Amino acid sequence: MRGASLTIGGACHHAGMDLATPLGPRVLVVEDDTQLAAMLRTLLSDEGYRVDVARDGQQGLHLALGARHDILLVDRGLPGIEGIDLVRRLRRQGVTTPVLVLTARGTAADRVEGLDAGAEDYLVKPFDVDELLARLRALLRRHLEDAEELDLGGRRLLVAERRVVGASGADVELSPRECELLLVLARRPSRVFGREELLDRVFDDADTTGAVDTYVHYLRRKLGRDIVRTVRGSGYRMGHG
Ligand code: CA
Repeated sequence: MRGASLTIGGACHHAGMDLATPLGPRVLVVEDDTQLAAMLRTLLSDEGYRVDVARDGQQGLHLALGARHDILLVDRGLPGIEGIDLVRRLRRQGVTTPVLVLTARGTAADRVEGLDAGAEDYLVKPFDVDELLARLRALLRRHLEDAEELDLGGRRLLVAERRVVGASGADVELSPRECELLLVLARRPSRVFGREELLDRVFDDADTTGAVDTYVHYLRRKLGRDIVRTVRGSGYRMGHG
């Protein structure tokens, strides 16, 4: 690790600080162009992402292996380890995080090489900012829907086992409905869900929105008050975990 040159974005790299930071998807940007890296950091932070930035392939590898990210944004032309090679190495090490590759070249052969290396998507520079954000959202959505584990900000929800592990204290077991409710909220941490919508997604026809409130209460009792936030007049959203 080359500590002096390591750049880690956001205030939430240390698990203890997650409590004060709104929970957004965590993205690692690997980009050697200083200006573009700074632009991406600002853009993605404004969109609610927690952003880490690496300035070359080595740092990218180090950060990607050292922390859990929801998505990786990798420039193809990098000093140290080249972008495609970085993706290949991460896949070999079992990192399954979705990767969007940025490239200055846009030939078909180039694209195939990137996809073969294990990248999910490919965007040619100069890119449209809205398109980049849309592609990231699409990748993220797929990733979260397939995820076996969800980051709750310091703690993790193991979906199949319906268990919350990590950080403080003992593991917490959830009932099927508690788990389903938490999943719906945690998959879109920045979205506010109306009680009717949550009722529709998680509960049976016979239940009323009171059931949603009851299960939010159960989740808070098991996982702490801040796990779910009440948004007055609107409904609920994911809290700080
Ligand atoms: Ca570059």
